[in-house]
Amino acid sequence: MTFWLDVAVATPVHSQVGGLLVYRSNEALALGSLVRVPLGKREVLGVVWGVHNKAAQGLHAPSVREVCGALAGIEPLCQGWRALVQFAAQYYQRAIGEVALAALPPQLRDLNDAQLARRLKRPSGADAALSSAMLAPWPLSEQQVAVLDNIEEGSGPFLIFGATGSGKTEVYLQAVACCLAADPNAQALMMVPEINLTPQLEERVKARFGEAGVVSMHSGMTAPQRLKSWLAAHSGTARIVLGTRMAVFASMPHLKWIVVDEEHDASYKQQEGARYSARDLAVYRGRLEGAKVLLGSATPSLESWHHSRPAQEGGRYQRLHMPTRIGAGQLPAVRRVDMNHQPRKTVLSAPLMAAIQERVARGEQSMLLLNRRGYAPVLHCADCGWKSQCAHCSAFKVFHKIDRSLRCHHCGFSQRVPRACPECGNADIEAMGRGTEQLEEHLGELLAGVCRPDGQAVQIARIDADSTRLKGALAMQLAQVHSGQVDVLVGTQMIAKGHDFRRITLVAAVNPDGALFSSDFRAPERLFALLMQAGGRAGRDAAQSAGSEMWVQTFHPTHALFEALKKHDYPSFAAQQLTERLEAGLPPMSFQALLRSDARTQEVAQNFLNNVKQDLHALCALDSTDAAALAQVSLYPAVPMSIQRVANVERAQMLIESPSRQALHRVLTLMQALLHAARSKPQHKGLIRWLVDVDPLAI
Ligand code: ADP
Ligand code: ZN
Ligand code: ZN
Repeated sequence: MTFWLDVAVATPVHSQVGGLLVYRSNEALALGSLVRVPLGKREVLGVVWGVHNKAAQGLHAPSVREVCGALAGIEPLCQGWRALVQFAAQYYQRAIGEVALAALPPQLRDLNDAQLARRLKRPSGADAALSSAMLAPWPLSEQQVAVLDNIEEGSGPFLIFGATGSGKTEVYLQAVACCLAADPNAQALMMVPEINLTPQLEERVKARFGEAGVVSMHSGMTAPQRLKSWLAAHSGTARIVLGTRMAVFASMPHLKWIVVDEEHDASYKQQEGARYSARDLAVYRGRLEGAKVLLGSATPSLESWHHSRPAQEGGRYQRLHMPTRIGAGQLPAVRRVDMNHQPRKTVLSAPLMAAIQERVARGEQSMLLLNRRGYAPVLHCADCGWKSQCAHCSAFKVFHKIDRSLRCHHCGFSQRVPRACPECGNADIEAMGRGTEQLEEHLGELLAGVCRPDGQAVQIARIDADSTRLKGALAMQLAQVHSGQVDVLVGTQMIAKGHDFRRITLVAAVNPDGALFSSDFRAPERLFALLMQAGGRAGRDAAQSAGSEMWVQTFHPTHALFEALKKHDYPSFAAQQLTERLEAGLPPMSFQALLRSDARTQEVAQNFLNNVKQDLHALCALDSTDAAALAQVSLYPAVPMSIQRVANVERAQMLIESPSRQALHRVLTLMQALLHAARSKPQHKGLIRWLVDVDPLAI
């Protein structure tokens, strides 16, 4: 007997094939089975997605190729997983096969049967029974107990809005422990923004639940490690998967709990291929599979905050508040330095320096935040006006003094710093603006001669993407901070997140004003979260928390954002932002998608988008339902992206916006076919690629 199957395979992004191809098989294969199938001259991995409806498609039988075989010893992917992938593909406008195959470990594709069989035989840890010491090593706080009671009774999704250090992580661990103890098969998924930045959490989870039942999933793992974790989760031996955004697609047949820590973090959004939000998919997956979902943050995304408004106002999430720090630790006092009253060109103001020196003398640590790496963002010749413009991008090359290089952070182009101005020969080229490298140097000068209590010279360290490029460098640098070798730490946002530094009592934002007047409507939200997070690094040790401080150097000290920060008042900041968003018709009160095109020239890039828009209007005129949807959607004219050219590619974008999610999606779906058709038109010669970003984080 012959069976006709729709199989999901990883077809190239822009192929019309939608990702499902028809194959035949002599044996019945369950939906979700992993199979090898011929594709062109290759043999590729596929997932059996459906039984092909032969009659409906008028299939030409002889041309249909045969499945090579199913992967032995691996259970089919469950219905819940397939539904998640299908939803993600449809929602983020990609092919099912592309999303499905990207969610599987690459070695499933690359290993042959014999190699796979060996991997399957290998014992996955001594015994996956969970450690019996799952419960908290200390009595829970009243606040933690109250929140856990709510979680027990409610169905979620829950949003824990809890101060940094209020014991949220402990709540996640307890909730997961209860769930796993109640059901011997249950599995839990815990997602974190970036595992490398929070190795402590991994340790904490493993210490609590035992090594055997916990697996990690993140992009820093080797292919064999990824396969091993995946098999353990898929077979049910792993009870807990701890991972980054990619883990939202982990195959977990008994998934009962999903935790999304720091749910506001931008790294939950995938920025290539299917541009999914792992946080949003987690909520969807929870509903799909009947798993409870718990989001947590000290500064929730405005989306989640809005979703957790009272139910009578339409809220869908249950908001749980944890305002108090464990051990009655206090949040840092916020000090604003009005830079209008400082001498011109002041980088680090006198009062801030005095406060830092005091900390050094007391043996406490300080942390300085500047969101720009390198020495100076641009080199400049005062004689002729030359600037270190990148030849390939509409951006400046950044001056890195350490290796005397000029580097473009967009295309990666790097060269030695010229000895003199390349235009006029002036030997005196100047650095404009400053980055972390320069701040570190400047701080060294200002603190020269300052000593720690043990009489040694003050130690300054810098942590950013440059200082941590080598493998293991970040872990080593963090260990130095934890051990107390470092007195003053300079860094980018990398140091603001998650670290449980015990001895930091002062955090300073050196120059945060840029985000106040950015054209990106989410910039204030990001800045507020960053500053609250950074402040959360100060005074984590309750004994020292009373004197802990968060400093902000600003030319706009009375700005509403800093007023709210001073009171640690996220709700009032959120309320003010949401009012602005409502008035401007911006998310979360509306829904957006970005249509982007890359081309040889800006004209081609923009024309492509504008022409597709015209095609769309023509198409919708033919159908009253389509026309009604389009009437609710605004398609803005194509514009150059804010960094218009990167690596000699011109980039344009078109914003698509609607108060109705449904209307927006109907229009996006109609647009897919038009985009494919327009691509091959001769007038769009020079077009390189296009992509759709649904719910973009930056526009
Ligand atoms: P958050 O995730 O909100 O930042 P954590 O759960 O990491 O907070 O807790 C902050 C600190 O307090 C951690 O060092 C943690 O080990 C400790 N802690 C958490 N809950 C308790 C508790 N009930 N009793 C004592 N210490 C606790
Ligand atoms: Zn010059
Ligand atoms: Zn460049």
